[in-house]
Amino acid sequence: MFTPFENETYVDFSQPEPARKMREALDLVASELGKDYPNIIGGKKISSDDKLVSVNPANINQIVGTVTKATAEDAEQAILAAYAAFPAWSKTDPIVRARYLVRVAAILRRRIYEFSAWMTYEVSKTWLEAYADTAEAIDFLEFYAREMVRLSAGNGNTPYPGEENEARFMPMGVVAVISPWNFPLAIMAGMTMSAVVTGNCVITKPAEQSPILAAKFYEVLEEARFPAGVVNLVQGLGEVVGEVLTGHPLTRVISFTGSRAVGLHINKKAAEVVPGQKWIKRAILEMGGKDCIVVDDDSDIDAAAEGIVAAAFSFQGQKCSACSRVVVVESVHDLLLSKILTRASKLTMGDPTTGDFNMSAVIDQESVDRVEAYMEIGAKEGRLVLGGTPHPSKESGYFVVPTIFTDVDRNARIAQEEIFGPLLSIIKAKDFEDALSIANSTEYGLTGALYSRKREHLERARHEFQVGNLYLNRKCTGAFVDVQPFGGFNMSGTDSKAGGRDYLQLLMLAKSVSERW
Ligand code: NAD
Repeated sequence: MFTPFENETYVDFSQPEPARKMREALDLVASELGKDYPNIIGGKKISSDDKLVSVNPANINQIVGTVTKATAEDAEQAILAAYAAFPAWSKTDPIVRARYLVRVAAILRRRIYEFSAWMTYEVSKTWLEAYADTAEAIDFLEFYAREMVRLSAGNGNTPYPGEENEARFMPMGVVAVISPWNFPLAIMAGMTMSAVVTGNCVITKPAEQSPILAAKFYEVLEEARFPAGVVNLVQGLGEVVGEVLTGHPLTRVISFTGSRAVGLHINKKAAEVVPGQKWIKRAILEMGGKDCIVVDDDSDIDAAAEGIVAAAFSFQGQKCSACSRVVVVESVHDLLLSKILTRASKLTMGDPTTGDFNMSAVIDQESVDRVEAYMEIGAKEGRLVLGGTPHPSKESGYFVVPTIFTDVDRNARIAQEEIFGPLLSIIKAKDFEDALSIANSTEYGLTGALYSRKREHLERARHEFQVGNLYLNRKCTGAFVDVQPFGGFNMSGTDSKAGGRDYLQLLMLAKSVSERW
């Protein structure tokens, strides 16, 4: 059977060999820019003249590629294709299904630099961020393949005299996968393949901002020869395609990762029973965050400053786990702030398709406008200590300068609302007790971190810090598959713990079978 699961390791781009391979991959992708990619419905490639154009956020005149915008009718056809493929795929041996995933992982691993380069072009990830995203996609596939083999033996149960009893897992049916752009490969592939390996048939609706990554991934699925209808791709607008997928009576599960607003809308839709529907739709919803790093008076301030700058500004603050609030016990505020500023002011920014920078562009004009609007709000709500002005290269790419406000009130908008960009709010607390209550004061509960040397405080955080992913004495970003299963509390989602040992069960029914001899 398969070897035990191990996470992919990262490369060091300051070394000549990885840097050379990345440059080669960027050149390869440059030679393939501007191509058009179809939707995949029931194994057929479907195109029309209505296109979605993907541009390089750091160089907005550069077209990465185009895809066909699916219609409501295409989405309907994709659901019917998935429904038709389900009887055979659901009966396919789970170990065979797992082998498909391992094969896809092997192809991605061979092309890891190329996929990372596509991500650098399409969503402006810096080299290491892009490599980490591709590595995480591979991890999800390898891990879920092994998990399915484990779960195929059932859950085990207590023996009962004169009977054979088993608790087994069954596939559910048609799964609509609706994914975000910020982990355009890892999250999209992880959500899609977890549903497939559990014996379901899938329609993937990727984010409008990252269609090419999804199209390239579907090329790999084609190479792995999935039976027609098991994996379907419909690119297009959430308001059009997403609405059909979530509202259809044949949809059994909705697997969604994205914003709070869309997640709550889908939750409501999932609860509505439409004519022809004979089940309660299951909704797996992973949503936004207002993630917080707490710095205690007795803590390693250098380590905290380093963790904060990495968690707040890597990928321009566009991770759901990104640190957007620092809550610091006031006696160490000035020291921490000076160390944060020293580090943050050295961050380099540029188009990552031309070199290896610390930061690059945000995803689109809407993001630039949103972050700049929060800069204006922040100017009224706090004391600006870094950034806060438009970026000089704003015309050529969606650049936003890293921005920090301090002396922010715990109830200020920049302390409560998800901004999803490189804007950090620092809030002073009287003591640890106060800090913990500020940390827990938003409606979100995704990630959080505490830097402290006090055992009592670390233990209290384990119990009282209301987040799905808590990190003690390290930054709040960078979860690894099956090391830190990922998912949030409260308005951050249904706590599904992607990349964890309970995840696949969310995509299956448990059936108890009892035979009397
Ligand atoms: P988004 O909610 O705007 O879009 C996500 C997906 O939903 C896209 O594919 C979009 O087309 C689709 N969609 C939009 N309207 C829809 C509708 N009416 N019906 C069905 N689908 C619809 O989010 P985004 O901007 O792509 O991603 C950023 C957000 O995702 C942030 O809030 C971030 O915190 C969150 N996120 C959360 C996690 C997590 O694990 N909790 C991970 C990554 C991102």
